Amino acid sequence: MADFSARQERLLKQQVASHRCPHCRQSFQQEHVRVAARHEGLWVVSVRCAMCRKQQVFWIALSDLSEHPDLICDPSPEELEAFEAMPPVAPDDVLDMYQFLRDFDGDFRRLFSNKSRQT
Ligand SMILES: [Zn+2]
Repeated sequence: MADFSARQERLLKQQVASHRCPHCRQSFQQEHVRVAARHEGLWVVSVRCAMCRKQQVFWIALSDLSEHPDLICDPSPEELEAFEAMPPVAPDDVLDMYQFLRDFDGDFRRLFSNKSRQT
């Protein structure tokens, strides 16, 4: 099980490293990828750009990682602006995510319908 996770994590880092920083177009490096949280097939990873030091967070669903990982990272300019205005990820944020994932039952349909009602 641990080996399996390690393999997944390695593949995950390779995937993230195949992307470029949206700010300066520098390729991300595997050693700068950090797994922030994980719940079954859903991983939250952060990566800090070696060039401009900006942080990027990826949500990755690993339903079939080796074939075609569903890498969700396509922020609009407005979203990038909003993200930049946010404070860096703090230990409390990671704890919040941990608690969220611990209680999350995997029902994204309900999650997102709740979200849209709040906003
Ligand atoms: Zn950069």
